[in-house]
Amino acid sequence: HYDVVIVGGGHAGAQAAVSLRQRDFAGTIAIIGEESDPPYERPPLSKEYLALEKPFERILIRPRAFWSDRKIDLHLGQRVTHVDPTGHIVTLQNGTTVSYGSLIWATGGHPRRLTCAGQDLVGVHGVRTRADVDRMVKELDAVRRVVVIGGGYIGLEAAAVLTKLGKSVTVLEAQDRVLARVAGEPLSRFYEAEHRSHGVDIRLGATVECIEGRDGAACGVRLQSGEILPCEMVIVGIGIVPAVEPLLAAGADGGNGVNVDEFCQTTLADIFAIGDCAAHRNAFADGALIRLESVQNANDQATTVAKALTGVLEPYTAVPWFWSNQYDLKLQTIGLSTGHNQIVTRGDPATRAFSILYLRDSHVIALDCVNMVKDYVHGRSLVTTAAVVAAEKLADTTIPLKSLA
Ligand code: FAD
Repeated sequence: HYDVVIVGGGHAGAQAAVSLRQRDFAGTIAIIGEESDPPYERPPLSKEYLALEKPFERILIRPRAFWSDRKIDLHLGQRVTHVDPTGHIVTLQNGTTVSYGSLIWATGGHPRRLTCAGQDLVGVHGVRTRADVDRMVKELDAVRRVVVIGGGYIGLEAAAVLTKLGKSVTVLEAQDRVLARVAGEPLSRFYEAEHRSHGVDIRLGATVECIEGRDGAACGVRLQSGEILPCEMVIVGIGIVPAVEPLLAAGADGGNGVNVDEFCQTTLADIFAIGDCAAHRNAFADGALIRLESVQNANDQATTVAKALTGVLEPYTAVPWFWSNQYDLKLQTIGLSTGHNQIVTRGDPATRAFSILYLRDSHVIALDCVNMVKDYVHGRSLVTTAAVVAAEKLADTTIPLKSLA
């Protein structure tokens, strides 16, 4: 028995345990995690870790000794397969049962897989875990050409790293621009041009028919147009499927993730959900029920639950923020741009240092900054207060954003 059982040892689960101890929670805590490594940072997997610029020990969320020092029991390499919400018991894949006082579900998601033929060939990779990237790196020496399926952040980051490593990279995006789900058109066009200038072949409106194989390994990607792109490696970055089956089977409300209230509580008593798998009503999305896939959201929801479990009921209202590194470009975003009806570009993208502001009915709702830390820091309050500012002023780089807040 543990007072708190945390399922999932990623960003959200680790932070929940850390925050509980920081708040002097004296009860027993266990993290049950499917991966065999102690909690580590996921963002470097498509950045410095893939580039072999950072060894694994440097992406650990805490030093290995931290967990036992703080009396946080790690049960690694264990998957929770069943939840009994009435008995307050979880069952692991190996049949072991563990009872809990409170359960924190922090399982993230598994990479969405292609549904076409060839998706399980050797050389086809998702990018979610250390093991995924280690497998890729092992194969890389024998790889000359890579096809990345999906022009989202993870696919583009991987494309940037692999290009730097000397691979010939093609990115296939089904929509008519990259980053279509998360960014405005000017940012998409900027990143498309950047990748092309580094030699990446960006194909828009490209639909995959299947992965071609030879002797069990991928040797090309066939498009619906009939064209075959020969390659030795395929990287699939088409999103995640939240890992919530046991909770839904136990009766929790949800569908695309598990639904939580403003305190990250699910519809089942004493069960919370946080991070990528938690569908919550977000104030920065006009109260829409959404999942956010970011370190910010994982950490802040973890803190919300740690507070709730130590007697402080504070709703989750944090402003979303995110970053992405590609080549020498550092993108920082704040707010959520969905639903914008005006875009203001601040500065000249050709200088490779500029910002984009998103407005909805004259209110600033989001900000994307490329190599523009100053705007990111100064523009934050424009987003958190949904400020109303004239577009000409936002576009004028001689006016600091902080003076407009
Ligand atoms: P995860 O970190 O995925 O952790 C969930 C853990 O639960 C996993 O270890 C999983 O194996 C385990 N698990 C799942 N099911 C079970 C089960 N039934 N039993 C036991 N354990 C289970 N975010 C940013 O803000 N900036 C970035 O630049 C950025 N880059 C990224 C790059 C990559 C390649 C990836 C994959 C993600 C990136 N993200 C980035 C997103 C960020 O990493 C996630 O939002 C964050 O990891 C979410 O934390 P989480 O704890 O919800 O899920």
